[in-house]
Order: sequence, then structure tokens, then C-alpha cells
Amino acid sequence: MTNIRQELIQYGKKLVETDLTKGTGGNLSVFDREKKQMAITPSGIDFFDIKEEDIVIMDMDGHVVEGHSLPSSEWYMHLIQYQTRDDIDAIIHAHTTYATVLACLREPLPATHYMIAVAGKDVRVADYATYGTKELAVNAAKAMENRRAVLLANHGILAGAKDLLNAFNIVEEVEYCSKIYCIAKSFGNPFVLPEEEMELMAEKFKTYGQRK
Ligand SMILES: [Zn+2]
Repeated sequence: MTNIRQELIQYGKKLVETDLTKGTGGNLSVFDREKKQMAITPSGIDFFDIKEEDIVIMDMDGHVVEGHSLPSSEWYMHLIQYQTRDDIDAIIHAHTTYATVLACLREPLPATHYMIAVAGKDVRVADYATYGTKELAVNAAKAMENRRAVLLANHGILAGAKDLLNAFNIVEEVEYCSKIYCIAKSFGNPFVLPEEEMELMAEKFKTYGQRK
């Protein structure tokens, strides 16, 4: 898990450096499918202060098997994805600006820019629940079905992929598409790409999503 620990810290810092989140606002995890264990960032430690030993290892029942820190308060929101999806082995949750604007309006992100295809044909908004609750985890998982990202009402964004590189890419692209949509909406009515075009995009992005 050494590489995984380093990668979690690296992408946590990258979230802050690229202005996608602030301080401790966000959490990341990676799933080891063979060991059936999740490595997750700790609760309440600034990404620039997290050390490898602060990363918490949990089993599929949510028990801490390694680590002295408390796992992120959103640990179950990560774990439920690994319990139910076989296409997701890395998850990033963040409070990015424009995706959170839409989440606060409780407005889903439609396909106004084709790059949304990294997440799916649109990005839904999960029903509101208090942060850190099982209810929020269940709501998020439900709204993320057949998608690789979801907006959390009045909160932020959650994205999942096969690895952290691709999960990070999804967060970046959904944030970009949200920004474009918000700005376009302030000028008029953004055109939404038709269903058949998004089906074509889904085909094209099957390979794009595998980039290493
Ligand atoms: Zn959060």
C-alpha cells in the first residue's frame, strides 16, 4: 500500500494546487480489489500535512485495519461505491466551485459541453443529507448509478474511476463543464447535445477513460 499512500497524498495536494478544493475540504480513497481493503485520507488533516502513516486502511465492513488517524468522515460514501460497483477503484470527493454552485441550486449538469462524457451523458444531483451520514452515502450511490460523478446537494462533487489519475480527470472536467454551463446560462439558454450524440461520445470515451 506504500505507492497508494503516496498517490493519495499527491492527488490531495493537487486538488488544492489546482484550486479544486481548499484546505481539508475533500477526501480521496483507493480500493485494493484483491485484498478487499480501502485506503482513505484521514479526517481533518490538511493535505499538505498528511504523512503516509496517516492514511487509514479499512476493510469492507468499515473496520479500521491499519492506521492511528480517524478516517475521513465521508468514509462510507467511498466504501459503498466499492461494495456496489466493479468499475470503480478510486474515488475523489471535493468542494469545487462551479459544480457546487449547481449542487446548491440542486440543478443537474446537462450535456452542454461534450467533455461531460468522462462522467456520463449528464451528472445528477443526489438528494440532500447531512455530511458524513450513511444517508448521504446511499443518496450519492443511487444518483451516481451508470455515471462516474454525482453532485451532492448543497455540498460538492464525488467522482470515481479505475484509478486516481482518471478520477481526478473526471473532477477537473465536470468542474470545467459546470463552469461553462453556469456562464452560458447567465447569457441565455445553453444548447444541450442530443441523446444520440452523447451515445457516440460514450463509445469514444470508453477508451479515453482508460488513459494511464
Ligand atoms: Zn465534503
